[in-house]
Amino acid sequence: EAGAEALLTVDGIGKRFRGVVAVKDVSFTVAPRSVLGLIGPNGSGKTTLLNIVNGVLAPDQGEIRLSGAVTTGRRPSDLAALGVARTFQAARVFSTLTVTQNLFVPLLHQRALERRAAHRRALELLAFVGLERHADRVASELSGGQQRLLEFARTLVTRPKIVLMDEPFAGVHPQIKATLIRCIRETVAAEGASFLIVSHEVPDLVAMSDRMVCLVEGAVAAWGLPADVIREEKVIDGYLGR
Ligand code: ADP
Repeated sequence: EAGAEALLTVDGIGKRFRGVVAVKDVSFTVAPRSVLGLIGPNGSGKTTLLNIVNGVLAPDQGEIRLSGAVTTGRRPSDLAALGVARTFQAARVFSTLTVTQNLFVPLLHQRALERRAAHRRALELLAFVGLERHADRVASELSGGQQRLLEFARTLVTRPKIVLMDEPFAGVHPQIKATLIRCIRETVAAEGASFLIVSHEVPDLVAMSDRMVCLVEGAVAAWGLPADVIREEKVIDGYLGR
């Protein structure tokens, strides 16, 4: 595992909340152009770890690196500018804006010249996630699953290097889930982005991930190829059950 080749390095991360250990000496890397699936029981530290990677929380120990450069302590907005994007368990969309307007929001800071190309990209992404028919609808009128697709498309407008996704498949229609999975894999292949995906949908995650990490009680129980991770004793005992 050559550290220089990693896109994201999570190195010895620890975090406590008033004496409660949430994350304990967690280390793994995410390669460029790859999907890392993050699994583990409720309360095992997955969301805390995502919050540390994108700067919402500061770790007590350890270091986060992006393409080798230390980002620990940088703010979420700085990390977003460096290419770290995030989607949420309850999709965050601008509910009073139309679908198309939502996709233009990330472009508001850009200069006119860049903005024209980015507009084109926003409209391409609308088609990519299959929401073109809903382009002019107000986002609040979309189903929860469609709002997930919209949030996902908006996240891609600025060409992030890595997208952190928290429970993207929970409660969404199987058809939308299939669309999301296809779009994630196509984004990896076409744009070289990476994804760090937290999900309890283990079979889907096994099928779509290049590597998986399982956290149990805040610590890494296993990290490696999906087929190997789900066979680890610690993963079966601590999460999957027998
Ligand atoms: P997961 O995402 O795997 O369900 P979390 O990262 O949400 O796990 O939580 C890990 C542990 O940290 C849990 O014991 C949880 O109660 C605790 N925890 C998370 N956030 C906070 C917080 N803001 N304050 C206190 N305890 C927290």
